[in-house]
Amino acid sequence: MKILVINCGSSSLKYQLLDMEGEKLLAKGLCERIGIDGHLSHKPQNGKPVFDEDVAMPTHTEAIAAVLDKLTSAEYGVVDSMAEIGAVGHRVVHGGEKFAQSVLINDEVMAAISECIPLAPLHNPANITGIEACKAVMGDVPQVAVFDTAFHQTMPGKAFMYAIPYEYYSDLKVRRYGFHGTSHRYVSKQAAALLGKPLEELKLISCHMGNGSSICAINGGKSVDTSMGFTPIAGLPMGTRCGDIDVSILEYLAANTGKDIKELTNILNKKSGVLGVSGVSSDFRDLDTAASEGNERAALALDIFHYSVAKTIGAYAAAMNGVDGIIFTAGIGENSASTRAAICEYLTYLGIEICPECNSKRGEDIIISTADSKVKVMVIPTNEELVIARDTKELVEG
Ligand code: ADP
Repeated sequence: MKILVINCGSSSLKYQLLDMEGEKLLAKGLCERIGIDGHLSHKPQNGKPVFDEDVAMPTHTEAIAAVLDKLTSAEYGVVDSMAEIGAVGHRVVHGGEKFAQSVLINDEVMAAISECIPLAPLHNPANITGIEACKAVMGDVPQVAVFDTAFHQTMPGKAFMYAIPYEYYSDLKVRRYGFHGTSHRYVSKQAAALLGKPLEELKLISCHMGNGSSICAINGGKSVDTSMGFTPIAGLPMGTRCGDIDVSILEYLAANTGKDIKELTNILNKKSGVLGVSGVSSDFRDLDTAASEGNERAALALDIFHYSVAKTIGAYAAAMNGVDGIIFTAGIGENSASTRAAICEYLTYLGIEICPECNSKRGEDIIISTADSKVKVMVIPTNEELVIARDTKELVEG
């Protein structure tokens, strides 16, 4: 079965087409500036040329149509016709408390995803648009929703509740949801395979560190705590997001800057994190360069990040009363040996010892701790699209 995986944003659409026989990537690409003008970059994996040009995309429907046109074209295509695509899997950001697993999409599911819009006002509407666009262009091809929040629905009340009046939870659904669930789920399974142990017997801490970063405590294959919260701003400081801060800062800043809550929240989401502290960049590569050239604020931003990750790992080791393995993944986790080393320097009390030679390798599932290290430390490249395609196949084949 060939499966199209779609990750729809408000003005963008990322896609991959996978052949599930051998789980082979056939093509991938990105539509940008949807609703503005439109640009498609399409990369077939069969040796055919890359397409990278402006294409008019007034709505997501034209974007999907353009993607299918390229996937099936003689010059850039990887399949003969749309009929070869057996199903579509969508990344959906928020499933609230309704979805603890991926689901086949029907009218009832669409209504439930809509009900979660207040919880993810920017993301869920875009995801719905993507599903509707596929339906408009592809007709009755089965579609599946895979939620970022679903994996964390196993968290116990003590981990997901905020200590605020209970009605805010019962009436307004204010609680910790957590995100990056698809990634944490994937890397934890891979880690069990790499360690050669059943996932059910392992206590793992997964560190997804990219533009957005979150850590997850995974006990026996189940998420028991995670650092992102009601929204993805919580937990670690990130590229541009502040992470956990004292909530009274908002009132203080409102009183002293003349900015309202909306404007300040925007600053905490888009102009904070390592960008805000360093004044240099949200990209860790730029921070590394700046710090090595003596920029003290860039060095401080990196220190804050390393310290925050290490503290959270310590908290989750306590939450699970132990840890067998720590996983690093996503842009920073997979690529930055210096970040991994700096974080692990805080963790020698856990008996962690890093092998510098292993830590310098890239692009494969690998153990980077020494044979004697009490806790195994791993780098595992994440693959959220593959999880979406696997879930889609499983649900469609029943
Ligand atoms: P997203 O959260 O958007 O999926 P990624 O997981 O792709 O992001 O991570 C992107 C981030 O990874 C970049 O902003 C950059 O900070 C970081 N990154 C990528 N390569 C490196 C590298 N070689 N060294 C340090 N950081 C890197």
